[in-house]
Amino acid sequence: MKQLLLIGGGHSQVIFLKQWVKTPLPNLRVILISNVVYTPYSGMLPGHVAGFYRYDETHINLPRLCGWAGVEFRLGEAVGLDLAQKQVLVRSVHAPNIAPDGQAETLAFDCLSLDIGSTPAANQVRGAAQYGVPVKPVPQFLTRWEQILEQIQGDGGRDWQVAIVGGGAGGVELAFNLQGRVKAAGAGGCRFHLVHGGQRLMGGHNSWVSQRVTQLLGARQVQLHLGERVGEVTGDELRCDSGLRIAYDFVFWVTQASAPSWLRDGGLATDGAGFMLVGDTLQSVSHPFVFGAGDIATMVNYPRPKAGVLAVRQGRPLFENVGRWLGERPLKPFRPQRHYLALLGTGDYCAIASWGPLGWHHPLLWRWKDYIDRQFMAQFIPDSP
Ligand SMILES: Cc1cc2nc3c(=O)[nH]c(=O)nc-3n(C[C@H](O)[C@H](O)[C@H](O)COP(=O)(O)OP(=O)(O)OC[C@H]3O[C@@H](n4cnc5c(N)ncnc54)[C@H](O)[C@@H]3O)c2cc1C
Repeated sequence: MKQLLLIGGGHSQVIFLKQWVKTPLPNLRVILISNVVYTPYSGMLPGHVAGFYRYDETHINLPRLCGWAGVEFRLGEAVGLDLAQKQVLVRSVHAPNIAPDGQAETLAFDCLSLDIGSTPAANQVRGAAQYGVPVKPVPQFLTRWEQILEQIQGDGGRDWQVAIVGGGAGGVELAFNLQGRVKAAGAGGCRFHLVHGGQRLMGGHNSWVSQRVTQLLGARQVQLHLGERVGEVTGDELRCDSGLRIAYDFVFWVTQASAPSWLRDGGLATDGAGFMLVGDTLQSVSHPFVFGAGDIATMVNYPRPKAGVLAVRQGRPLFENVGRWLGERPLKPFRPQRHYLALLGTGDYCAIASWGPLGWHHPLLWRWKDYIDRQFMAQFIPDSP
């Protein structure tokens, strides 16, 4: 019996598991290794931050999904890779301080599939890892956000300064939803800053969308610092390369995505930022028995932004090609769409749609987004249609 290891219960691999429920392969043992029990759905995460959704509405219960699929669930964090021996080093998440080379467990595989997401690069800026609150890993971010919200609510009259570093889609959506939540909590004195290295927000989207979010954030008194690169974070201020200093009480970090070093250290071909390089079949370009999808994988022929919607789309081709590879059948190339619809919640039951050159901002879009997201989550509840 061959062994397939799925590392990370990200957006692609939950779709993989859903497909597995319908068409499991014979003579195959499948194990999902995840460092969390509940994996977040990125589409609803900002809405959870804004207080619109409960935790359980925005997270997928992985052991339950695995149980449904007949797949073994292991709570643990992959920290090393031995491609020659086809083994993964998995550290227990119950005891995170144990030495990875001493007491971690080694799991063998015939085929490996990685969907472990990415985290904002905080190590490149002095003090960012120490003082910043990175938006990923999500569990740590949510715990910290709840504490911060409690602190702000506890002293609602104080002139709190909240900074968000990173003006891509994630940072902008976070700014809207954090601000919306704080406003709803009645903390009127709280002031928000959005610091972005580029000259326009959401540079990967069309100019109408950039202008619209700039205008909306301005109307909500979010102070924008465009063209500013944070060079250092101290305990109470952001020091930008231009000399600008921004005093803060809390700083959220939503900058460029980064990958863990163990993929490159293990000998997997990676791009300059450490993301594994995959071909059109989602196989590693260096090791065809390793598959990758979602943020962690860069498609060499189709570079795309890191987005949950794209990770979801890769779920079916990942399932199909892993099955074909194990069954020694020819694999099928996958071509991701060039334009994809991004629906960005603005924290006030409204949303902005961005699709190629088009954009729209309307409350109806929020209702549509809400419908799509709830439908997506419903498929992971056993006995749902
Ligand atoms: C604030 C914010 C808002 C966003 N909103 C949107 C949006 O509205 N729409 C959109 O398309 N994209 C959005 N994104 C981007 C989106 O979050 C990512 O592109 C998406 O989550 C990537 O999915 P993934 O499957 O690659 O990984 P993830 O969803 O990050 O899942 C990875 C999983 O693997 C687990 N894991 C990680 N490392 C290990 C390990 N070593 N061992 C075992 N398990 C591990 C993680 O705990 C997690 O469960 C947003 C990002 C941010 C920061």
